[in-house]
Amino acid sequence: MTAQIIDGKAIAENLLTDIKSKIEARITTGKRAPCLAVVLVGADLASAIYVRNKRRACEKVGIRSIAHELPASTSEADLLILIDSLNNDATVDGILVQSPFPPQIRDEAIIERIDVNKDVDGFHPYNIGRLAVRQPTLRSCTPFGVIKMLEASNIELMGLDATIVGVSNHVGRPMALELLLAGCTITSCHRHTKDLANKVKHADLIVAAAGKAGLIQGDWIKPGAIVVDIGINRMADGKICGDVDFNAAKKRASYITPVPGGVGPMTVATLMENTLLALELKEKK
Ligand code: NAD
Repeated sequence: MTAQIIDGKAIAENLLTDIKSKIEARITTGKRAPCLAVVLVGADLASAIYVRNKRRACEKVGIRSIAHELPASTSEADLLILIDSLNNDATVDGILVQSPFPPQIRDEAIIERIDVNKDVDGFHPYNIGRLAVRQPTLRSCTPFGVIKMLEASNIELMGLDATIVGVSNHVGRPMALELLLAGCTITSCHRHTKDLANKVKHADLIVAAAGKAGLIQGDWIKPGAIVVDIGINRMADGKICGDVDFNAAKKRASYITPVPGGVGPMTVATLMENTLLALELKEKK
């Protein structure tokens, strides 16, 4: 068997085209474009690339983006002041503060300060909680992007045994909640999981989000399983790869996502969709 490669880039492009026409339709009826504030603290190279990609996507679909680039020495208090001002700015619909943060800034202090209605990353405990109680509103971009990618590939999730490797607040945990909502029976694995191979071998759907190159070996994949690789690992030669041994896994899987060109573009497209949704929800109130 050779797996069908899921082209996340193409699916994301379709999604962006759709968002662009929805925004154009708003403008023709006299409504304004959505606005996303993007905050970057420090000069982490990977973060700078992610922020650049997000701002380019904004341009593509017609979302106004405002950049706040702050020095790595920024205090938590100063960052909170900026977030408060963005929360209070009626022309800003979405706020994204790119992580990771410098050590003096606590993740949870920043995420919990963002207005839940502007939390387009879907990281706030309120929005994670909405997903947990099956009433999702603003959904974490990467896990929701994975769901949309699988839907666009006509993959039926109901009833599948899904193993998720990774339980972080931003990726693995909301991914498990998304799959539970979609009707999967879920197994969440992490660094203390015993016999990871066995948990993967029994899965119809594997979602890897550990950030460890080659962690998921090809012969762990059940023949015909669906493999989604969220991991992004930069190798010594500068190349990017996922957590799954792609070449071996694609010989056993029915579907597999590549890295790069799989989940990454879906994350960005979902952020655009969330920003438009945040504005639409505000208008309904
Ligand atoms: P994280 O470091 O916060 O979490 C990693 C998780 O993997 C933890 O829950 C840990 O317990 C688990 N883990 C680590 N080693 C393991 C092992 N040997 N066996 C089982 N579980 C193990 O990372 P994160 O923020 O969740 O990101 C995970 C990966 O996804 C990273 O490579 C990151 O770059 C990537 N990522 C990709 C996108 C995208 O759009 N494609 C978005 C966000 C993150």
